[in-house]
Amino acid sequence: MKNGMKVSDAILKLVPYKAGKPIAETQREYGVETVYKLASNENPLGPSPKALEALQKGAQELHRYPDPAGYELIRALSSAWGVPSQRLAIGNGSNEVIDLLIRIYCEPGEAILQTEAAFVAYAVCAQAARVKVVSAPLQFGLKTDLGAMAKILRERRESEKIRLIFVANPNNPTGTIASARDVAKYLEEFGNHPEVLTIFDEAYVEFVRSPEYKSVLSLMDQYKSIAVMRTFSKVYGLGGARIGVLAAQPAVIDLFNRVRNPFNINELGSRAATAALSDSEFVKKTLQLTWQGLDYFYAELKRLGLPFVPSEGNFVLFETKRDVKAVNEALLRRGIILRPVGNYGFPTLLRMSVGLPHENQAAIKALEAALNEVPELPPQQWTSTGRFA
Ligand SMILES: *Cc1c(COP(=O)(O)O)cnc(C)c1O
Repeated sequence: MKNGMKVSDAILKLVPYKAGKPIAETQREYGVETVYKLASNENPLGPSPKALEALQKGAQELHRYPDPAGYELIRALSSAWGVPSQRLAIGNGSNEVIDLLIRIYCEPGEAILQTEAAFVAYAVCAQAARVKVVSAPLQFGLKTDLGAMAKILRERRESEKIRLIFVANPNNPTGTIASARDVAKYLEEFGNHPEVLTIFDEAYVEFVRSPEYKSVLSLMDQYKSIAVMRTFSKVYGLGGARIGVLAAQPAVIDLFNRVRNPFNINELGSRAATAALSDSEFVKKTLQLTWQGLDYFYAELKRLGLPFVPSEGNFVLFETKRDVKAVNEALLRRGIILRPVGNYGFPTLLRMSVGLPHENQAAIKALEAALNEVPELPPQQWTSTGRFA
């Protein structure tokens, strides 16, 4: 690989993204036949049936290049969300949207602001662009602290050259939200700020049950320095199709469309997303399943004496009180894939996505066995101590 060319330190220090462990790999490595993956916040129902139908039709047209303007999908989104189409653009998953926004707005050496334990894509994309990351601390309960973010912007925006602010609302892996009240207060100060853009990542917006929450999509007339990201990877069950949406001022959309590859969105993904958007029956079914699954997890985690963070997403973050590597091994041996979150600074926590009822039950059964197998650590060593329990 080395040919003597100079490579930036920021690039050399990048660590390849560690996705949820694949099912086939777990079957091979652990010799288990039945494996349930509750590690990537995927929709356990699979893709929307309407999306599958559209894919089948779209396959006949695969020799054609995709529509670079994404006309049909953008039109469908515009009508479903009540957002003018000049304010919408499509990315190859939210991941590409994040990557391009950082490349558009940040020069090397400038910075983005996020929260501690924010969705990891913000920091990875920043690092790849030689952009620094400033992280605001979380409140008790691992809650996003927009007050702390505002304070950092007041005190350090200029010296740190902060240009973009990413707020995952709800956040992954914590599952917590910033309340509508806190968002309103933050926007009073920074919603029309001429030198920063605040991006609200609403990947889990559909799953939210808290009455304290409000999407900022409807506030875009009022606040010119905000943008919203949504995705088809979660409630619509299309993680493999890679469709993310950016809603922003037309000037931002214009820049985005200049920088992106003309064919960043493949035609099949586009068609699947357009069809899934109209499948309200599927969304309803997904939400029911998710909320039931979450309530089941809460009850079982309580029974097992494991503190957890109540979630507004389709997953729950919980304390194992144990060496998470050992717990995870014990789970994998039983064919259950959950997500360790040590890379987020939570060494004893696991994240568990909601699956189908029998998968959830199998996960809890395996977890109970794993807890019996691995000795408990003293409370000083638990991540949750003083943070959410
Ligand atoms: C899953 C997730 C996304 C979606 O990413 P895609 O690239 O669209 O699959 C975005 N933001 C957060 C916080 C997520 O957890």
